[in-house]
Amino acid sequence: MKISKLLILITLLFSGQLLADEHWGYEGTISPEHWGDISKDFRTCKTGKHQSPINITKAKKLAPQPLIFHYELTPEEVINNGHTVQVSVNSDDDYLTFNGTHYLLKQFHFHTPSENQIEGNSFPLEVHFVHTDKEGKLLILAVMLKEGKANQEIEKAWRVVSKQQDKTIKIKSPFNIDKFLPSNKSYYHFEGSLTTPPCTEGVTWLVLKESVTVSKEQVDKFDNLLGHTNN
Ligand SMILES: [Zn+2]
Repeated sequence: MKISKLLILITLLFSGQLLADEHWGYEGTISPEHWGDISKDFRTCKTGKHQSPINITKAKKLAPQPLIFHYELTPEEVINNGHTVQVSVNSDDDYLTFNGTHYLLKQFHFHTPSENQIEGNSFPLEVHFVHTDKEGKLLILAVMLKEGKANQEIEKAWRVVSKQQDKTIKIKSPFNIDKFLPSNKSYYHFEGSLTTPPCTEGVTWLVLKESVTVSKEQVDKFDNLLGHTNN
């Protein structure tokens, strides 16, 4: 640990912030390099061995198991929680089958710019579809968005989401996740962690190789809502 970081840590300890405040963010003293020190529940952010996101390079060419998607059209809610825009999915019908296990879709949310990189390439937006199996094991399906035509599915959430934080809003038109996904579903697979506190490990990551499009205006709208990057 660098002296300057140590000093910040000591200052935080004496001011009581470190123990009292579990607030995390992307800038200043609560930025990612400090997450492991904000709370003992977040220690894995610093000490973990399989932390995400990663830059995917020289991926092994294995014969991958096909992913089987069972996504229905369901009405959902959207929230701007200050860290991201998140759409919650309250249905038992939306799941994805990977290696014979069903993973139920719980929510999806966005990062700008992308957290994972493919061969060193970053994307303006990345969406994480967060799933859990019966035992609560997490699987995150990541889809990259490149600049191009406006994304009709994102627009459904963007149209209603509020700049006001922690306000839950119903999305009127149901999300069609199948339309959100690229036609080619080949993917990279690795075992990693949550990319935000508490940075829990043992998360199965699937990153689709092919991206879908999002317009510059849609990325700008997301930037404006958050007021900061969140990768
Ligand atoms: Zn995420």
